[in-house]
Amino acid sequence: MSDSRQSEIAAALADVRSRIPAHVTLIVVTKTFPASDVEILYQLGERNFGENRDSEGSEKSLDLPEDSIWHFQGAIQSNKLRSIVQWSDFIHSLDDISHARKISSLADEANKKQSCFIQINLDPEINENSQRSGISIDELDSFAEAAAAMTGITVVGVMGVGPLNADPRPAFATLEKASQALQKTIPGATLISGGMSGDFEIALEFGATHVRVGSSILGSR
Ligand SMILES: *Cc1c(COP(=O)(O)O)cnc(C)c1O
Repeated sequence: MSDSRQSEIAAALADVRSRIPAHVTLIVVTKTFPASDVEILYQLGERNFGENRDSEGSEKSLDLPEDSIWHFQGAIQSNKLRSIVQWSDFIHSLDDISHARKISSLADEANKKQSCFIQINLDPEINENSQRSGISIDELDSFAEAAAAMTGITVVGVMGVGPLNADPRPAFATLEKASQALQKTIPGATLISGGMSGDFEIALEFGATHVRVGSSILGSR
């Protein structure tokens, strides 16, 4: 493990940490970075790690001590769910009720409750050309009711991805509104996963409880 990589990560992490209030959970997004970086982060005191791919997440999570907490935030492929339910503590990208059913039965089988965020599509206009995943806010009530009835799932909140080249404020305002709507159906689902390297400070203004930060800490991919 190189000392220079260690000090590079420590400095970037300290800078990001200084901009996040203590009550907010920082998820360090370690996708594409080696397990040695995750070990450095662990030694620096980080416990929450985010991955977009099952294969990477399942391998890296095996290398880390038991008290590390793993977040799956990538597009869900149904055939990967059995593995994802094994290694992930939180799934952030739930947006399909058939995936919810499958997660619930796999979690029942594994004797766990799988914590899930419902992903909300924050695009201003949702049409067949929408690239981004997530359900529309109009679908949230019925989706949440259906998911809440599933024995293997605990819905913990909402997740969203801000726009790439536009003001993220309207998007995070929508996410905050979705959170309030969700809590009418599921009062305990208070978490908001919003904000990445480029926009986490704005997400915090709109009540984010979890931020997912990769490149500001680990460098560009
Ligand atoms: C990659 C990714 C992040 C982290 O992005 P950075 O710009 O590297 O901070 C956060 N959330 C999701 C869903 C991602 O795919």
